[in-house]
Amino acid sequence: MTTRRKKIYEGKAKILYEGPEPGTLIQYFKDDATAFNAQKKAVLEGKGVINNRISEFVMTKLAAIGVHNHFIRRLNHREQLIKEVEIIPLEVICRNIAAGSLSKRLGLEEGTPLPRSIIEFCYKNDELGDPLVAEEHITAFNWATTQDIDDIMASTLRINDFLTGMFGAVGITLVDFKIEFGRVWEGDFSRIILADEISPDSCRLWDSTTNEKLDKDRFRRDLGDVIESYTEVARRLGIMKDMPTVIQGGLH
Ligand code: UDP
Repeated sequence: MTTRRKKIYEGKAKILYEGPEPGTLIQYFKDDATAFNAQKKAVLEGKGVINNRISEFVMTKLAAIGVHNHFIRRLNHREQLIKEVEIIPLEVICRNIAAGSLSKRLGLEEGTPLPRSIIEFCYKNDELGDPLVAEEHITAFNWATTQDIDDIMASTLRINDFLTGMFGAVGITLVDFKIEFGRVWEGDFSRIILADEISPDSCRLWDSTTNEKLDKDRFRRDLGDVIESYTEVARRLGIMKDMPTVIQGGLH
């Protein structure tokens, strides 16, 4: 796109531009990958295109089961039109199997199934490294109310059930994922909807048969074949046909 647009925000993996109508934004998916609070960086050619398409697919499916979210429509290979929201400064993590920071914190071997799905909240603040917080902090600092937290938890569990089934059906185990929510105003009333993205950047996805990692841990842990793994997720979801030919043919 060559038209000049106002940049609203630039994050590590995405850029938000002003949308065509009030209350809308354009979400642009970059190829940049970062880990460990941006201490590790790389450009993974094609990642933005794949994540744009996977997130579109997931958000559309979730909307169909009544999980309201910010996605309106995909505009092109790297951009989607979304609803503008006030982002709630929380990373909502839902876990089914121990991995990553939970394994470290509680000394649980990676791959240990959890007794039940666990939801955690982290305060979205890069300078602080997104610290884990409790409901007490969330309500005391007015990031969200108790009612908001109840809604977010109910929605997160619903998303987890749906995604577990969706990925399970194509031989992928949903180990954990991170989502974000935003507030939309309708007059004096606000509603909380799912925002951001759902992609292999924000989920742990393991092959159900081999436990091979098909997600961002391939980048974090230098396992190689990052794009190939993201492509495999898209292929299993049946959405490779919507990718540009350069990605369909394999980038390497
Ligand atoms: N996650 C994310 N962004 C973050 C932190 C975590 O998308 O800034 C995702 C991560 O990909 C995983 C889940 O949230 O699917 C749980 O991550 P964890 O707390 O184990 O952190 P990590 O091991 O990535 O530091």
